[in-house]
Amino acid sequence: MKEKSIDMESKEHEEDKLNKDLKTKIKGRVIFPNDLDYDQERKIWNGMIDKKPAIIVKCSGVQDVINAIEHAKSRGIKISVRSGGHGVSGSSIIESGLVIDLSLMKGIWVNPKDKTAIVQSGVTWGEFDREAQVFGLATPGGRISTTGVAGFTLGGGIGWLSRKYGLACDNLLSAQIVTADGQVLNIDKENEKDLFWAIRGGGSGLGVVTSFQFKMHQVGPMVYGGLIIYPAKLLDNVIDLVKKYMERSPQEVSILTVLSTAPPLPFIPKEMQGSKVIMLAGGFMGDPKEGEEILSPIKSIGEQKVDMMGPIPYAVLQSLPDALNPPHINNYWKNHYLKDLKAEPIEIIRKYYYNCPSPITEIHLEYLGGALSKVPDEENAFGHRNANWNINIVSKWKDPKETEINLNWTRRLSEELSPFSVGHYINYNGDSTEDMVKSSYNEIKYKQLVKIKKNYDPYNIFVAKF
Ligand SMILES: Cc1cc2nc3c(=O)[nH]c(=O)nc-3n(C[C@H](O)[C@H](O)[C@H](O)COP(=O)(O)OP(=O)(O)OC[C@H]3O[C@@H](n4cnc5c(N)ncnc54)[C@H](O)[C@@H]3O)c2cc1C
Repeated sequence: MKEKSIDMESKEHEEDKLNKDLKTKIKGRVIFPNDLDYDQERKIWNGMIDKKPAIIVKCSGVQDVINAIEHAKSRGIKISVRSGGHGVSGSSIIESGLVIDLSLMKGIWVNPKDKTAIVQSGVTWGEFDREAQVFGLATPGGRISTTGVAGFTLGGGIGWLSRKYGLACDNLLSAQIVTADGQVLNIDKENEKDLFWAIRGGGSGLGVVTSFQFKMHQVGPMVYGGLIIYPAKLLDNVIDLVKKYMERSPQEVSILTVLSTAPPLPFIPKEMQGSKVIMLAGGFMGDPKEGEEILSPIKSIGEQKVDMMGPIPYAVLQSLPDALNPPHINNYWKNHYLKDLKAEPIEIIRKYYYNCPSPITEIHLEYLGGALSKVPDEENAFGHRNANWNINIVSKWKDPKETEINLNWTRRLSEELSPFSVGHYINYNGDSTEDMVKSSYNEIKYKQLVKIKKNYDPYNIFVAKF
């Protein structure tokens, strides 16, 4: 007994020494549980996640990342990587492990001549779009401004530009990654091509990506977009219209159908606020004049709509839903790719939509297709490129007392949709269960990802989804 406590004491002493040593090796910041802002620093966007890491290292650059990996290995603890912190499942933060936080790494270099850009991993989509739009450039990015470029791209990345230019990961030209053995690799289609294949859609757990080089496209500054809001009684007509319209629409058109409750915002008529509505968000990612004409059919139903679609700066369109997605409230998401949106799943969605326990929850019917479905499937790890629809159940609620009822509602709706599902999208998964992750890829891709993970991280030091 006495011997054990001496052992423990010497272990604590050794850990203390290693921690002090880490502080001298990090140019950014090292945060321990006894630091005053520890609770603030361990928070992520999803308020449901409450994990207590042993150490958070806010890296200022690649050398800090290497030193942090080295430290975790010497202490025998696992590593998670946090960039924008938006991952709904909370896989960027680890209980009792070391968090490599990249939020201080904000470099953005846009090269208008060859239409490329390099961004560091702490950059959010709002920050990236702002700099790229100086040159009238953009690449498919997140539809709210605070999402991290890193996690979004590693999981695939579906944005308003994806039907025209593919996923964010399809536009990735190269990346810099620090692997488990502390090596810094510059990877692309020629160099470490298996690892480069894997990080494009395979998500996290393969190393720490410190920067991304993207192919950029001429976009805006003005496009045609925004929001059209229909009352729920028109649900069938709106879904029917969107289905028929999207199947025939040009690749510039991107529309997300959102089933929700009208929020109390000034631009929404008072009589509509608090009632069930269907919002059509998105627009035409090209010349606004052309967009106005091309999008006119989706404005053609009924009289009682709110039409807020018009010419809009691309960068503003990219941040339109920000207000509806505040940080630190409770979130639990589940999603299903469907080959087609047939009558049965629509009926299930309708039933749950009307008995949804939270007024801020949304059900997204996302039509895909276009350029993202034309990229050859073997090009990268991203799964289910050929599915036409993704149904994303975006459950949100503020009061923790309502957690149980919202979790149950979300799970039941997801279960009822399962028979129609062809898989899941890793970036929308609120759970990181093995089943959920496996079904985000086909069998061959999943096996390949496991193999690559074993090769680059043989001791499994990075929290992995596979
Ligand atoms: C409000 C909201 C809106 C969204 N809208 C969209 C959308 O329109 N389209 C879409 O496709 N997705 C969307 N998402 C999902 C989003 O793409 C994912 O949540 C994405 O993982 C967020 O990236 P992040 O860097 O902010 O997250 P983080 O939580 O920091 O990271 C997510 C995962 O990636 C890993 N990771 C992050 N950075 C690195 C790195 N540099 N190296 C290695 N691993 C890393 C983390 O360890 C974690 O497992 C949205 C999410 C939210 C919350």
